[in-house]
Amino acid sequence: MGEQSQARCRTCGALWHAGQWTEGCVECGGGAMEIDCLICRGRCGSKWERAVLDSNDFGDAHWFGTCRLSRP
Ligand SMILES: [Zn+2]
Ligand SMILES: [Zn+2]
Repeated sequence: MGEQSQARCRTCGALWHAGQWTEGCVECGGGAMEIDCLICRGRCGSKWERAVLDSNDFGDAHWFGTCRLSRP
């Protein structure tokens, strides 16, 4: 039982681990445990992962991911 199994939004109570999220909630940020690439809005096909603890601690959505279209 890792933390991911209990991942939830502290703002609205949505159960991210169950795929729930709330439209307009800043902490949910438009997704549950993953979201389309935020740089190109999904055109690169990459999915970003929810950073559960950072999202809870800061009260807004944090994600791990990279854009396949971006070049350093
Ligand atoms: Zn929420
Ligand atoms: Zn991208």
